[in-house]
Amino acid sequence: MIKKILSILEKDHKKTMLEQLSHYTHFQMLIATLLSSRTKDSTTIPIVKKIFTKYPGPDDLIKIDLKELESLLFSIGFYKVKAKNLKKLSRIIIERYNRKVPETFEELTSLPGVGRKTANCILAYTFNKPAIAVDTHVHRISNRLEWVKTKYPEETEEALKKIIPKRLWIDVNRLFVNHGQTTCLPVNPKCKICPVLKYCRFGLSRKDL
Ligand code: SF4
Repeated sequence: MIKKILSILEKDHKKTMLEQLSHYTHFQMLIATLLSSRTKDSTTIPIVKKIFTKYPGPDDLIKIDLKELESLLFSIGFYKVKAKNLKKLSRIIIERYNRKVPETFEELTSLPGVGRKTANCILAYTFNKPAIAVDTHVHRISNRLEWVKTKYPEETEEALKKIIPKRLWIDVNRLFVNHGQTTCLPVNPKCKICPVLKYCRFGLSRKDL
Protein backbone atom coordinates (compact mmCIF):
# COMPACT_ATOMS: atom_id res chain seq x y z
CA MET A 1 0.00 0.00 0.00
CA ILE A 2 2.75 2.47 0.95
CA LYS A 3 4.66 1.74 -2.24
CA LYS A 4 1.45 2.09 -4.26
CA ILE A 5 0.56 5.47 -2.75
CA LEU A 6 4.08 6.84 -3.25
CA SER A 7 4.09 5.71 -6.87
CA ILE A 8 0.73 7.43 -7.50
CA LEU A 9 2.02 10.65 -5.95
CA GLU A 10 5.16 10.36 -8.08
CA LYS A 11 3.04 10.60 -11.24
CA ASP A 12 1.59 13.98 -10.21
CA HIS A 13 4.78 15.24 -8.63
CA LYS A 14 6.04 18.79 -9.20
CA LYS A 15 9.52 19.64 -7.96
CA THR A 16 9.79 20.90 -4.38
CA MET A 17 11.96 23.88 -3.56
CA LEU A 18 14.97 21.74 -2.67
CA GLU A 19 14.63 19.76 -5.90
CA GLN A 20 14.51 23.02 -7.83
CA LEU A 21 17.73 24.11 -6.13
CA SER A 22 19.51 20.77 -6.48
CA HIS A 23 22.14 22.24 -8.83
CA TYR A 24 23.39 24.39 -5.93
CA THR A 25 26.52 23.46 -3.97
CA HIS A 26 26.17 21.38 -0.80
CA PHE A 27 26.84 24.50 1.26
CA GLN A 28 24.18 26.50 -0.57
CA MET A 29 21.66 23.66 -0.14
CA LEU A 30 22.35 23.68 3.58
CA ILE A 31 21.82 27.43 3.81
CA ALA A 32 18.67 27.31 1.65
CA THR A 33 17.20 24.53 3.82
CA LEU A 34 17.96 26.41 6.98
CA LEU A 35 16.41 29.61 5.67
CA SER A 36 13.31 27.83 4.38
CA SER A 37 12.21 26.69 7.81
CA ARG A 38 8.94 28.45 8.75
CA THR A 39 9.08 30.46 5.53
CA LYS A 40 7.18 30.05 2.28
CA ASP A 41 9.16 28.66 -0.66
CA SER A 42 8.05 31.63 -2.75
CA THR A 43 9.78 33.92 -0.24
CA THR A 44 12.87 31.77 0.27
CA ILE A 45 13.77 31.03 -3.38
CA PRO A 46 14.37 34.61 -4.62
CA ILE A 47 16.25 35.50 -1.44
CA VAL A 48 18.67 32.57 -1.65
CA LYS A 49 19.22 33.24 -5.34
CA LYS A 50 20.10 36.84 -4.55
CA ILE A 51 22.40 35.95 -1.66
CA PHE A 52 24.31 33.27 -3.57
CA THR A 53 24.90 35.51 -6.57
CA LYS A 54 26.90 37.84 -4.36
CA TYR A 55 27.94 35.54 -1.50
CA PRO A 56 28.27 32.01 -2.89
CA GLY A 57 30.34 30.31 -0.21
CA PRO A 58 31.20 30.26 3.49
CA ASP A 59 34.22 32.55 2.99
CA ASP A 60 31.90 35.21 1.57
CA LEU A 61 29.28 34.84 4.28
CA ILE A 62 31.74 35.28 7.15
CA LYS A 63 32.86 38.59 5.65
CA ILE A 64 29.39 40.07 5.21
CA ASP A 65 28.33 42.55 7.86
CA LEU A 66 25.64 41.11 10.17
CA LYS A 67 23.31 44.09 9.65
CA GLU A 68 23.59 43.74 5.87
CA LEU A 69 22.84 40.02 6.10
CA GLU A 70 19.83 40.75 8.31
CA SER A 71 18.48 43.22 5.78
CA LEU A 72 18.90 40.66 2.97
CA LEU A 73 16.99 38.09 5.03
CA PHE A 74 14.35 40.49 6.30
CA SER A 75 11.31 38.66 4.80
CA ILE A 76 12.44 35.28 6.13
CA GLY A 77 10.96 33.97 9.40
CA PHE A 78 13.31 34.48 12.38
CA TYR A 79 15.72 36.37 10.14
CA LYS A 80 17.84 37.79 12.96
CA VAL A 81 18.54 34.39 14.53
CA LYS A 82 19.13 32.86 11.11
CA ALA A 83 21.56 35.61 10.09
CA LYS A 84 23.64 34.97 13.22
CA ASN A 85 23.52 31.20 12.66
CA LEU A 86 24.59 31.55 9.02
CA LYS A 87 27.71 33.42 10.03
CA LYS A 88 28.58 31.00 12.85
CA LEU A 89 27.87 27.98 10.69
CA SER A 90 30.02 29.33 7.84
CA ARG A 91 32.98 29.71 10.17
CA ILE A 92 32.55 26.16 11.52
CA ILE A 93 32.31 24.73 7.99
CA ILE A 94 35.57 26.50 7.11
CA GLU A 95 37.51 25.74 10.27
CA ARG A 96 36.24 22.33 11.33
CA TYR A 97 35.19 20.77 8.05
CA ASN A 98 37.63 22.29 5.56
CA ARG A 99 34.79 24.01 3.65
CA LYS A 100 32.84 20.79 3.13
CA VAL A 101 29.35 20.16 4.48
CA PRO A 102 29.52 17.15 6.83
CA GLU A 103 27.61 14.06 5.75
CA THR A 104 26.44 12.57 9.02
CA PHE A 105 23.29 13.33 11.00
CA GLU A 106 25.30 13.90 14.20
CA GLU A 107 27.71 16.36 12.61
CA LEU A 108 24.93 18.20 10.80
CA THR A 109 22.80 18.61 13.92
CA SER A 110 25.83 19.96 15.80
CA LEU A 111 25.82 23.01 13.49
CA PRO A 112 24.07 26.20 14.70
CA GLY A 113 20.40 26.26 13.73
CA VAL A 114 20.41 22.79 12.17
CA GLY A 115 17.75 20.54 13.68
CA ARG A 116 16.52 17.04 12.80
CA LYS A 117 14.41 18.15 9.85
CA THR A 118 17.13 20.25 8.21
CA ALA A 119 19.75 17.53 8.75
CA ASN A 120 17.49 14.87 7.25
CA CYS A 121 16.70 17.13 4.27
CA ILE A 122 20.42 17.58 3.62
CA LEU A 123 21.09 13.85 3.88
CA ALA A 124 18.25 13.03 1.47
CA TYR A 125 18.30 15.91 -1.03
CA THR A 126 22.02 16.71 -1.06
CA PHE A 127 23.77 13.44 -0.30
CA ASN A 128 21.14 11.02 -1.56
CA LYS A 129 21.28 9.10 1.73
CA PRO A 130 18.28 7.34 3.29
CA ALA A 131 16.55 9.82 5.60
CA ILE A 132 13.00 10.96 6.30
CA ALA A 133 12.70 14.69 6.90
CA VAL A 134 9.45 15.17 8.79
CA ASP A 135 8.02 18.63 8.34
CA THR A 136 4.44 19.74 8.85
CA HIS A 137 3.30 18.19 5.53
CA VAL A 138 4.91 14.80 6.16
CA HIS A 139 3.55 14.73 9.72
CA ARG A 140 0.01 15.68 8.66
CA ILE A 141 -0.30 13.44 5.61
CA SER A 142 1.22 10.36 7.28
CA ASN A 143 -1.40 10.71 10.01
CA ARG A 144 -4.28 11.35 7.62
CA LEU A 145 -3.32 8.27 5.62
CA GLU A 146 -3.12 6.39 8.94
CA TRP A 147 0.40 5.23 8.26
CA VAL A 148 1.16 6.47 11.75
CA LYS A 149 -0.75 7.72 14.75
CA THR A 150 1.53 10.33 16.24
CA LYS A 151 1.45 13.70 17.91
CA TYR A 152 4.93 15.03 17.20
CA PRO A 153 7.17 15.05 14.10
CA GLU A 154 9.96 13.21 15.92
CA GLU A 155 7.60 10.31 16.73
CA THR A 156 6.41 10.37 13.12
CA GLU A 157 9.96 10.00 11.84
CA GLU A 158 10.60 6.98 14.04
CA ALA A 159 7.25 5.39 13.20
CA LEU A 160 7.69 5.92 9.45
CA LYS A 161 11.17 4.41 9.52
CA LYS A 162 9.65 1.21 10.92
CA ILE A 163 7.06 0.80 8.16
CA ILE A 164 8.64 2.27 5.02
CA PRO A 165 11.33 0.29 3.18
CA LYS A 166 14.67 2.13 3.51
CA ARG A 167 15.09 2.60 -0.24
CA LEU A 168 11.88 4.72 -0.26
CA TRP A 169 12.76 7.00 2.69
CA ILE A 170 14.32 9.55 0.39
CA ASP A 171 11.04 9.97 -1.54
CA VAL A 172 8.72 10.66 1.38
CA ASN A 173 9.58 14.30 2.02
CA ARG A 174 9.62 15.45 -1.60
CA LEU A 175 6.35 13.65 -2.48
CA PHE A 176 4.46 14.67 0.65
CA VAL A 177 5.69 18.26 0.61
CA ASN A 178 4.38 18.73 -2.92
CA HIS A 179 1.14 16.86 -2.14
CA GLY A 180 0.67 18.92 1.03
CA GLN A 181 1.26 22.21 -0.77
CA THR A 182 -1.11 21.45 -3.63
CA THR A 183 -3.79 18.97 -2.53
CA CYS A 184 -3.65 17.70 1.05
CA LEU A 185 -3.78 21.21 2.45
CA PRO A 186 -3.74 21.71 6.25
CA VAL A 187 -7.27 23.15 6.15
CA ASN A 188 -9.84 21.98 3.59
CA PRO A 189 -7.73 19.33 1.86
CA LYS A 190 -8.85 18.80 -1.75
CA CYS A 191 -9.85 15.18 -1.19
CA LYS A 192 -12.28 15.21 -4.10
CA ILE A 193 -9.44 15.52 -6.59
CA CYS A 194 -6.83 13.61 -4.57
CA PRO A 195 -5.25 10.76 -6.56
CA VAL A 196 -4.93 8.62 -3.42
CA LEU A 197 -8.44 9.18 -2.07
CA LYS A 198 -9.38 5.52 -2.32
CA TYR A 199 -6.52 4.63 0.06
CA CYS A 200 -7.34 7.35 2.59
CA ARG A 201 -9.96 6.72 5.26
CA PHE A 202 -9.75 10.33 6.41
CA GLY A 203 -10.73 11.54 2.93
CA LEU A 204 -13.35 8.84 2.39
CA SER A 205 -15.02 9.59 5.73
CA ARG A 206 -15.57 13.26 4.94
CA LYS A 207 -19.29 13.90 4.80
CA ASP A 208 -18.90 17.12 2.89
CA LEU A 209 -17.46 15.44 -0.21
S1 SF4 B 1 -7.82 12.02 0.44
FE1 SF4 B 1 -7.71 14.04 1.37
S2 SF4 B 1 -6.80 13.72 3.38
FE2 SF4 B 1 -6.42 11.87 2.17
S3 SF4 B 1 -4.39 12.22 1.30
FE3 SF4 B 1 -5.89 12.94 -0.19
S4 SF4 B 1 -6.15 15.12 0.21
FE4 SF4 B 1 -5.14 14.22 2.00
